[in-house]
Amino acid sequence: MSRGLYIHIPFCLSKCPYCDFYSVKYNCETAEKYKDAVIRNLLCYNEKFDTVYFGGGTPVLLWKEICEILEHISLEENAEITVEANPCCSDKENLTALKKAGVNRISFGIQSLNDKELMALGRRHDAKTAVKAVETAYNCGFDNISADIMLGTQGQTVISVENTINELSLLPLCHISAYMLKIEENTPFAKMRLALPDEETVCDIYLSVVEQLENIGMHQYEISNFAVNGRECRHNLKYWNCEEYVGIGPAAHSYYKSERFFVDRNIDDFINTEFQATHKETDLAGGCDEYAMLRLRLTQGLTLSEYVKRGGNAEALERKLSLIPQHFFRFNGERLYLTPEGFLVSNSIIGTLLS
Ligand code: SF4
Repeated sequence: MSRGLYIHIPFCLSKCPYCDFYSVKYNCETAEKYKDAVIRNLLCYNEKFDTVYFGGGTPVLLWKEICEILEHISLEENAEITVEANPCCSDKENLTALKKAGVNRISFGIQSLNDKELMALGRRHDAKTAVKAVETAYNCGFDNISADIMLGTQGQTVISVENTINELSLLPLCHISAYMLKIEENTPFAKMRLALPDEETVCDIYLSVVEQLENIGMHQYEISNFAVNGRECRHNLKYWNCEEYVGIGPAAHSYYKSERFFVDRNIDDFINTEFQATHKETDLAGGCDEYAMLRLRLTQGLTLSEYVKRGGNAEALERKLSLIPQHFFRFNGERLYLTPEGFLVSNSIIGTLLS
């Protein structure tokens, strides 16, 4: 099976106050050096990749560099090639160039189509810009377009999210990722008094999103991911299916030749060393706990036989399942998966199962 390739593009125009992803302020000279460092690192891998994902940061800012990087990647036929894009930085010129270079999937960080919510998140775009970006991508020939939305943000209600999804349903999207806002340490949001919806409202918002997306033909396939049939993100599925991938760039993670490792969050080190320095992440890569933790994020869930094959104890797992309320999961003796209500408390369920 071919591996996936993740390339981190750690540049943004400015920092959103909730964001913990590694990125620095964009400047074109550093971007040029960064591109050279990525291409150097690609030489370490004699691989044909079947998925490539440019994540960030704001990858679309480096659209010229991405077109050049793609010339150095060996690809399987029909490879899925995704670029994350911010609505405010996407236009006909850069989207056309990316399409021509082979990119076939665009993932827009839309977050909401409610201007007040967008402002509260400190985003640079408004709803109109987001809609236009999706339409432009479609008109440039992209038929695999995804949108990220954020749940549990300031001022948000079940109704306001419903309105966002109603408007998104009119756009040529085939995938939506709905992430819960998480207040990360060391971000401006962590130091602010935010008027966030209470826990019960956030749960209601999540369950209503699951239902509404199902109603418009986007089935849930992971805690936060929904797609029309056949448009699930093949790259991200590799993470949850415990398949291997290579990560390039500061803060990138890899699962390669049975080992998990990561790169420091330091762009200067990355640019100034010939090949990126990596640190081993765990001694338990590919084991039963990791398998359970990742697969229980998927609506498909885990299979008991695979769990046992990876060293898990079926009886112990079944014993611990009896401690979990039944409406949080389904188990038919072989396949175990969480319900949408279970996804809301997945960390604690997984904690119980793996304790
Ligand atoms: S949310 Fe996206 S655009 Fe905002 S700082 Fe983080 S990576 Fe950059």
